[in-house]
Amino acid sequence: MPLRDILGQPQVTGALRRALTQGRLHHALLLHGPDGVGKRACAMAFAQLLLCTRPTPLPLSAEEGGGELLDACGTCGACGRVARAFDPALRALHPDLHIVERGLNDSGQLRKKIVVEQMREMQTAVRYVAYEGGRRVIYIEDVDLMEDSAANAFLKTLEEPAEGVHFLLTTRNLAGVLETVVSRCQAVRFAPLPTHVVAALARRHPKGAALSDEAAQTLARLSGGSIGLALHWLEADLAPADGAQSWERALSAFVLSQVRALDGGTATGSSPQALLRAWEALKPYASPKDDAELRRLLYLLSAWYRDVMVLMHDPDAPGALLTYPALRAEAGARALQLTFAQVRWRLQALQDAERDLFERVGGNRALTLDALALYLAGLDAAVGAPLYPAAQAAQGAL
Ligand SMILES: [Zn+2]
Repeated sequence: MPLRDILGQPQVTGALRRALTQGRLHHALLLHGPDGVGKRACAMAFAQLLLCTRPTPLPLSAEEGGGELLDACGTCGACGRVARAFDPALRALHPDLHIVERGLNDSGQLRKKIVVEQMREMQTAVRYVAYEGGRRVIYIEDVDLMEDSAANAFLKTLEEPAEGVHFLLTTRNLAGVLETVVSRCQAVRFAPLPTHVVAALARRHPKGAALSDEAAQTLARLSGGSIGLALHWLEADLAPADGAQSWERALSAFVLSQVRALDGGTATGSSPQALLRAWEALKPYASPKDDAELRRLLYLLSAWYRDVMVLMHDPDAPGALLTYPALRAEAGARALQLTFAQVRWRLQALQDAERDLFERVGGNRALTLDALALYLAGLDAAVGAPLYPAAQAAQGAL
């Protein structure tokens, strides 16, 4: 897929084509940005342009800055070989393109780091003479995840660039890349994809083909502009075993069922029943093997409280500001029952729970879930004060 067909990153695709056409391309590009916004796809398209045997001047869109710039033909033998080398199902070898990914360990799991042996292979590849087109491309994915010895070996190659060698590096964590590497590269920032692009890409997925505009917006907001996350949400098993339900109806039903069980109490108080209900609802997440589902639940609930907050501020807020426009009536009713501070505390409690469960080492899962249940069930209103010290700080800031 040539750069002209990449959706949602017009600044990046325009800048890459301009740099090449105008002969001022940096030999090492560091593509950085969140997961699932097209870094790998852009690297593949740009590798095609670098190695294409028939690059063609083609018009750019207004978003890309207009004018006419070179792009890969997309059909020559070289373009096809690049596409096959990047295809995870084929991993075809390419004489002028060397791909470094973390790869799998002996038990079939993705390695945590790029290892030094991979850098040695890369260094050998750099020494070969280009096979066609005169250029060679080294692609390294997750350049922030290298063992120290691998990083040192890489730095050496980067410091003494061989003629005609182009480095395309990607990372989701720019701060995690060695300063000495960053300073030798040109950084290229990838922004989150705009809503309409996430929607267009999601509609290419079998489960997304029939998405309504409203559902596409929900998906785009939940995914934070990452097509990778959008597909994760589409594939999430939310439907209660009713295959006929559409994705949006399954999501709405799931969010509502969780909200009814967990989001209890009112501005004036709560009840023991609400607390029991909340405890019951969190029970299925007691084991660490339910982490993915629990993380998803916390995320969906946070989005719910954000919607409640928006409607508290403006009951007629435009649908584009809501994550669940389909649940406007329910969220609007909730906005009338809770105080602003209560919603803030609950959002804070969800955030604290996420940190304690997934980031803190040695956190107590059962205690964290119990405290969260207390919070969401509205016990804060019963005692007239926020339950978490962190939330007290948030209250003070109001
Ligand atoms: Zn070509």
